[in-house]
Amino acid sequence: MIEPHLLLVEDEPGIARGLVFNLEEEGYRVTHVETGEEALDRAWDEYFDLVILDLMLPGIDGTEVCRKLRKHDSRLPIIMLTAKCEEKDRIEGLEVGADDYLTKPFSLDEFLLRVKGMLRRSEWYRPDSGAARRYQFGSNEVNLKDQKARTEKGEIPLTELEVRMLRTFFQHEGETLSRAGLLTAVWGVAPDTETRTLDNFIVRMRKYFEPDPASPVHFLTVRGRGYRFCRDGDDDGS
Ligand code: CA
Repeated sequence: MIEPHLLLVEDEPGIARGLVFNLEEEGYRVTHVETGEEALDRAWDEYFDLVILDLMLPGIDGTEVCRKLRKHDSRLPIIMLTAKCEEKDRIEGLEVGADDYLTKPFSLDEFLLRVKGMLRRSEWYRPDSGAARRYQFGSNEVNLKDQKARTEKGEIPLTELEVRMLRTFFQHEGETLSRAGLLTAVWGVAPDTETRTLDNFIVRMRKYFEPDPASPVHFLTVRGRGYRFCRDGDDDGS
């Protein structure tokens, strides 16, 4: 059996070190990150069996990370850690999709038991461990890790830049992304760079994934502002 792969999102080095050490002792493979941004990046690229998520993080906080992870994969088990003990934080965490909750300081034994219990339960309803890496919209399925997509036109290999663009759109589903933001996220170039590359890429995305590339429902132009990805398909947003 392959050892379960856990994502630990914790910004306090002392706590993280202890948890990583003990989880590895239990035979788990652990990826540790310190920010919500890193957590989301990793979760898009890799498959995890369980996420252990600190609530109070620099940058985007645990609640927001949890909401985004949940949207991306409704079955990924998430345990939330918090230093707060107020009822409202606990409820908020559960509302955005955490499956379990531990208030710091917690006992290590209790923590390990919860991890073990959750992994055991999740095995029952997660037979396909590849599902988390795949992203579906319309009649398309994109596998960011393997850099390929299944579409109505057949299987398409994706380039590194295409994967980066798709990941950016998926992470910001429903949000309008400025041209400058997309250029920075995908190409890493200065936002004031004049380039047609971006528009050409959008044309290509539509050709791959849109039922009718001439009237897109997924990769929408937001006039004067940029582009917006719509997972469910929207024809009045352009
Ligand atoms: Ca923290």
